[in-house]
Amino acid sequence: MTQVPAIQLSDGTSIPQIGFGTWRIPDSKVTGVVLAALEAGYRHIDTAAIYGNERGVGRAIAASGIPRDELYITTKLWNDAHLTADARRGIENSLMRLGLDRLDLYLIHWPATLQYGDSYIEAWDALQQFKAEGLTRSIGVSNFLPHHLDALSGETPAVDQIEVHPTFSQRALRDELTRRGITIQSYSPLGSGADLRNRELARIAARNSKSVSQVIIRWHLQHGLVVLPKSQTPIRVRENFDVLDFELDAHAMSRIDALDGDNRVGWHPDTARL
Ligand code: NDP
Repeated sequence: MTQVPAIQLSDGTSIPQIGFGTWRIPDSKVTGVVLAALEAGYRHIDTAAIYGNERGVGRAIAASGIPRDELYITTKLWNDAHLTADARRGIENSLMRLGLDRLDLYLIHWPATLQYGDSYIEAWDALQQFKAEGLTRSIGVSNFLPHHLDALSGETPAVDQIEVHPTFSQRALRDELTRRGITIQSYSPLGSGADLRNRELARIAARNSKSVSQVIIRWHLQHGLVVLPKSQTPIRVRENFDVLDFELDAHAMSRIDALDGDNRVGWHPDTARL
């Protein structure tokens, strides 16, 4: 099997460039789906406390028999737990549900300023403490814009997980994060499915004898992004991982870049009320 490329984070650790997204996969179903993903070759799993499926992800990790150091597990602190004592309960509960004693990456899920003011600043201090204690190897944020990053003290987040897909590619934000040495994880990398219906992408896929999904995932990889496709359909789970044996040429990459538009499928970080 061709090796998934890894990216080195600013803290010196490395992260597999393809991760498996688990949002909206219920706990009752996630164990089988994650086992199918691990069987297909994924070694990086993305979950969150709010997804309500950490226990099921943990059952898959245990049942897989894959050595812990071959897996990369990310989870996220929910918005109502930013204050220090709540954040500590947050990471401890996530570790307990996942059946792990250490995460690979722990993220602040949203700045959530509309509901919780600037409490994300305190959460960042807590995450640095958790890393120092060895509860997680790396720490980062999600849905953070430059003005949120500017408010943080101490170390720079290793990662910012943000919405990126061909019709909403966030070039300016990506450039700014890269300038700051922050690795970008693309969430909703297929536009939560919406970009799969794009006609230009269908033409590029046909020319490469690949599916639209595979072409989009390649585009993320070739831009140096960590990509987190989700599917609960085993054949698609495998298809989305089968992207290591071809390359998009520069012309195809620039045609996909040209699809950038205003097609946000999630919430704007400054106005999200979650
Ligand atoms: P994606 O962009 O990964 O798209 C998932 C959708 O596309 C599903 O409807 C899936 O259907 C469908 N799909 C996947 N592969 C194929 C395929 N090969 N052919 C046809 N259809 C396909 O969506 P998400 O929004 O779930 O984002 C991915 C991950 O990013 C999440 O699961 C989560 O881990 C993370 N995320 C993080 C957020 C954050 O705030 N930090 C916010 C949103 C997402 P089906 O499942 O039915 O097969």
